Amino acid sequence: NTSRSLNFIEHIIEEDLTKGFPKDKLKFRFPPEPNGYLHIGHASSICLNFGLGLRYEAPVNLRFDDTNPAKEEQEYVDAIKRDVEWLGYQWDTECYASDYFQQLYDWAIVMIKQGAAYVDSQSSEDVAIQKGTPTEAGKESPFRNRSIEENLLLFQSMKDGKFKEGEHVLRAKIDMTSPNMLMRDPIMYRILHKAHHRTNTDWCIYPMYDWTHGESDYIEQVSHSFCTLEFAMHRELYDWFLDQVVEEKLVRPKQREFARRNFSHTVVSKRKLLQLVEKGVVTGWDDPRMPTISGLRRRGYTPESIKAFADTIGIAKRDNVVDVSLLEFHVREHLNKIAPRVMGVLNPLKLVITNYPDGEEEWLDAENNQEDESAGYRKVPFSKELFIEQEDFKEEANRKFFRLKLGGEVRLKNGYIIKAESCTKDSDGNIIEVQCTYDPKSKSGSGTEESLRKVKGTLHWVSAKHAVEVEVRLYDRLFTEETPDSHKEKDFMEFINSDSLTVITAFVEPSLENAQIGEQFQFQRMGYFNVDKDSTPEKLIFNRTVGLRDTWAK
Ligand code: ATP
Ligand code: MG
Ligand code: MG
Repeated sequence: NTSRSLNFIEHIIEEDLTKGFPKDKLKFRFPPEPNGYLHIGHASSICLNFGLGLRYEAPVNLRFDDTNPAKEEQEYVDAIKRDVEWLGYQWDTECYASDYFQQLYDWAIVMIKQGAAYVDSQSSEDVAIQKGTPTEAGKESPFRNRSIEENLLLFQSMKDGKFKEGEHVLRAKIDMTSPNMLMRDPIMYRILHKAHHRTNTDWCIYPMYDWTHGESDYIEQVSHSFCTLEFAMHRELYDWFLDQVVEEKLVRPKQREFARRNFSHTVVSKRKLLQLVEKGVVTGWDDPRMPTISGLRRRGYTPESIKAFADTIGIAKRDNVVDVSLLEFHVREHLNKIAPRVMGVLNPLKLVITNYPDGEEEWLDAENNQEDESAGYRKVPFSKELFIEQEDFKEEANRKFFRLKLGGEVRLKNGYIIKAESCTKDSDGNIIEVQCTYDPKSKSGSGTEESLRKVKGTLHWVSAKHAVEVEVRLYDRLFTEETPDSHKEKDFMEFINSDSLTVITAFVEPSLENAQIGEQFQFQRMGYFNVDKDSTPEKLIFNRTVGLRDTWAK
């Protein structure tokens, strides 16, 4: 969308262009760490970076920030690529921070030679104590003034695997009195005897995020590196590390920050989402209740709706919580345009049309989507015994109840006007069957006077004999609390909604018999549904993506 006003990130770029930054040198990146699946928060960052690429016709790299072998896996790399592609974006180059390990190491050597880095051999506890506090200067390490030769030797030995984890680290020599704690001789390398999903056991020292990120941007010649606000304090260090390596002729990347997005009634942190997976609260990263891109896809969200949502919430300078019902609004709006209408009864109540001939059936014309003429028509079977929704019948009801009541009339969608004559109850008093009569001249679309007669209510239904029995999964929010992870005393896991999934047996019209996994439908009056990947040829399973209306609005 190029018609909206510029956001503050775009203003930064426009200003740089005005000052003479060459437009053909613009370059962006989206830099996920492959330690989990992408979530709806990442969608904001993806839409921002790839959106800038489209707006400025600039390349956007997909960069895996893979510097922590303890938490990263190939499975996550694959899932991330799938999700970015599914959202409809194309990256220029697929990059990995791990591809730069050698270059980073070489630069670290140069820094040691220039006296800008040293090997510290203290325990991590001592290093932490010496850091000081924001109001109190830190203390210099007793190893800070090691000779360049000794540093080179030790660092080489660290790389060669001669030490155990924690024995030494490489630190940048900056300023132990800096008001910015991150500038107090930050760690550049630690020893980790762990295999990496790409470099395997080639390395046993791994670069830290701060040392890696800016230099990776520089290697790729990214012009603008956008990250979330918690990195604002890191910018000084980002710039300091660049100062150590940047050459005049090349583009010097610029870090700028935007607000991390939080969403109501869910959590967006890969670490916390992993906990939900590992503790079995959900069935996996793509559980339709998860706020992951893959969960949303499985639930029936479309790339268009996610992008429209990201565009609507835009880019902010301050942290805030976005109401997830806004996301639901966008998927409803998109599915309303594209999803074929069908009839499915979730809580069936048997309805018998007493004056309809026994054993007879007819196939009625039903419009597939009144929002889309090209969608055409289909046939739905009608017969003496139907199912309607339990909640659509009451023995007695006031005038505001526009559904079926004894003595009252409704139209059956695409069919006839019926009148409820009587009902049957079981021994507990539950209504188990409704007996009706129908007006044979009132058939929808037949052009007769009776077919044009207006009655207050129209109900969806299925023919009992023809209906297909399916499983339907209804979802509720995963957390009972609006902001489950910002509670002071309680852990977010304490707010899990124990009723977030309801599985029911429903009946749908036979046109759905061959519905394919992922296909989307509007079950008229009941919401939007798609076919879940757990479906088999014997048993279709539908997820409710979202209801037709925002039932959460107060
Ligand atoms: P998490 O806590 O979920 O692991 P992260 O920021 O560590 O989040 P990364 O894989 O490093 O996850 O994220 C890749 C990019 O997406 C980063 O630039 C990050 O700032 C951005 N991002 C992550 N979460 C959000 C969010 N909730 N809102 C906006 N941007 C986000
Ligand atoms: Mg990160
Ligand atoms: Mg993280």
